Amino acid sequence: MSLMQGKRGVIFGLANDKSIAWGVAQQLHEAGAELAFTYLNDALEKRVRPLAESLGSNVILPCDVGSDEQIEAVFSELKERWGSIDFVVHAVAFANRDDLKNPFHQTSREGFQLALDISAYSLLPMTRYALPLMKDGGSIVTMSYLGAIRAVPGYNVMGVAKAALEASVRYLAYELGAQNVRVNAVSAGPIKTLAASGVANFKEKLRIMEERSPLKRLVTQDEVGKATLYLLSDLSSAVTGEIHYVDGGFSIAAG
Ligand code: NAD
Repeated sequence: MSLMQGKRGVIFGLANDKSIAWGVAQQLHEAGAELAFTYLNDALEKRVRPLAESLGSNVILPCDVGSDEQIEAVFSELKERWGSIDFVVHAVAFANRDDLKNPFHQTSREGFQLALDISAYSLLPMTRYALPLMKDGGSIVTMSYLGAIRAVPGYNVMGVAKAALEASVRYLAYELGAQNVRVNAVSAGPIKTLAASGVANFKEKLRIMEERSPLKRLVTQDEVGKATLYLLSDLSSAVTGEIHYVDGGFSIAAG
């Protein structure tokens, strides 16, 4: 039997076929999972809908994760359609371009709050509204980056947001373990996506990754997808609160 046969879940963060969420969705689909997707706005719906449908999904819902009401609406729709779910993928982040370009100490109060709200806080209401649907336990995975634990040039406020996200993973994992709900993060190496294009000197990050990572190459959306599949499946039934690196070993290399 396939790894995810009979399992259902929702993916937040698909924008196009370069998205990490797309790598995740394809792996989950191949493993037999039934998928729901959300999209941020009408412009993205045009890209997300055909991709979702190509994986047999007919649950494609709008959601700005800056709104608790919209997150709640997604899960009430899932309750209506499916009754229960097994997993949630949080692959969403946002920061103002200016806040990523300017020196970190110039980050505006509003920009700081926005980055933390969309990229970290949103995991909490997602978990809150998913929980009543995870009747037999469940697994939640979010996407992080090395900038959470190291000062990566140019990552700035997003690094602070990822630090909050990783701490949230640990607190949620601690709190929900007794309900057999696991919460983990994948910390991916740099991958060319829409979101990554906002990070200063991104090309340089790709070059350094190829040069210095033990595997001497970039990682792919598919590889992040495979690690996420592991964390969402029963293969990782005793794993929770973990930050799982998919970065060709870059984070352990001395230089
Ligand atoms: P992406 O641009 O394809 O995905 C980011 C998604 O966030 C988009 O679908 C966008 O619509 C969504 N989003 C932004 N604001 C939103 C809001 N208010 N409400 C709902 N959705 C919103 O880029 P990606 O690189 O695939 O990013 C996915 C995740 O992976 C992010 O958390 C990102 O920080 C993380 N990540 C990316 C890299 C990389 O190098 N690309 C590395 C490590 C971690």
